[in-house]
Amino acid sequence: MFAYRGLGIATVCGLAVALVAEVCQGGVNSVPVVCPVCDHAFEALRLETPGARGGVERDLFARALGAQPVAYLITTCPRCYYSGYLDDFQSTGRVDAALRKAIVKDHPLRPETPITAAMKQDEIPPTTRYALAAAVYRLRRAPAEAQGWLLLRWAWVVREDGSYLPPTSSLMQAMREIEPRLPEIRPGTNQADRELRAVNILTADWQEGSFDPELEPYVRLVIALVLRRHGENGAARALLVNTKRQVDPPLPAAIDRMIASMDEERRILAAAREQIERAVTRSEVKPENRPASLYLLGELCRRIDDDGNARTWFDRAIAEPALDGSLRVWAIEQRELIQPLDGVPTHK
Ligand SMILES: [Zn+2]
Repeated sequence: MFAYRGLGIATVCGLAVALVAEVCQGGVNSVPVVCPVCDHAFEALRLETPGARGGVERDLFARALGAQPVAYLITTCPRCYYSGYLDDFQSTGRVDAALRKAIVKDHPLRPETPITAAMKQDEIPPTTRYALAAAVYRLRRAPAEAQGWLLLRWAWVVREDGSYLPPTSSLMQAMREIEPRLPEIRPGTNQADRELRAVNILTADWQEGSFDPELEPYVRLVIALVLRRHGENGAARALLVNTKRQVDPPLPAAIDRMIASMDEERRILAAAREQIERAVTRSEVKPENRPASLYLLGELCRRIDDDGNARTWFDRAIAEPALDGSLRVWAIEQRELIQPLDGVPTHK
């Protein structure tokens, strides 16, 4: 993390990517599609990137370095706004006649940002495309698990979009102060874990008063930015609210936007949790995916501060003999992050 010095842009990680413009490392490919609702022919986009070198979040968001494939997964027809995965445009057979009629006649799809028929996919914000796809999946009455995963990916895109602050000179100066304090990058470690460990180191340094008082609010802002990037929004919010009055423009306005994006992410995560919970309780999830779904529900509940249910789902995941070994480690670690109930002894 922050290790851009001497490494060149190809190994820019974590925060540097969030501050600098997006670096697209993979290839964006055009895929010709025909809208199954209105027959409009246009180009969908697909981003190919190698692996999850940006780290894997505990809610299973696997990041690439630079631009994220998840932002390219959803295609929107720029004429009728029908939206979905590439497969929803390519699968054989037309969409259900009732759905087609509903979209064309009743115009239930309302984009959050204006779309013109000539727009290319990358001119339509990914969050607009996801919101439309979620509406299509509701209209289609898609299975709860599919709706849940679509919502979860939408939340990741909102998180990624909201993890940005303008690189003012004070903020960049804080980053230069911070960089030598951070541990060396070791190949093969999870970038997301490494960034959160760095936050712990920085927070300890900050609380010990080891930064110049002028720079200290900007250090807090860097910590908040990393927390926001990982969706640790409760902690990020507390830092941002306190810091907003202590930093120079344009940062206060950027902080407001970041807080709004956390509210949006929370709303979408809550909807994702509802759908995945429905799929699990109705036993609609494939048996081999069930243990991971229990873990995911624990983590989604934790992220929306539903601690009681988070504990319950983590416990159910841990009780599954078939839970994958690394998810078992995560389930135990994430469960420990939840604040203990007042007055209730814990067995930590
Ligand atoms: Zn269309």
